[in-house]
Amino acid sequence: MKCKYCDKTFPEDDDLVLNYFEHTKINHYELLGDEDKMMHDIREKMIKSKIDHDQFKKEIGDSDLFFNSNDSDTV
Ligand SMILES: [Zn+2]
Repeated sequence: MKCKYCDKTFPEDDDLVLNYFEHTKINHYELLGDEDKMMHDIREKMIKSKIDHDQFKKEIGDSDLFFNSNDSDTV
């Protein structure tokens, strides 16, 4: 994926969206219009909260499994 503001390209991996948002924020934030800035902030928050949520779920899920190993067939 190529940055739409410069020639930088991003590898197509799991962090692509986040990398692209970080890059846009650091390098091109001033180029965004008011509406684009707003969208950028909202989408960035959604992406980050999704990542937090996934990590949270992973940690909690693991400890849940650990603590409730006797009830594993109820999952
Ligand atoms: Zn760029």
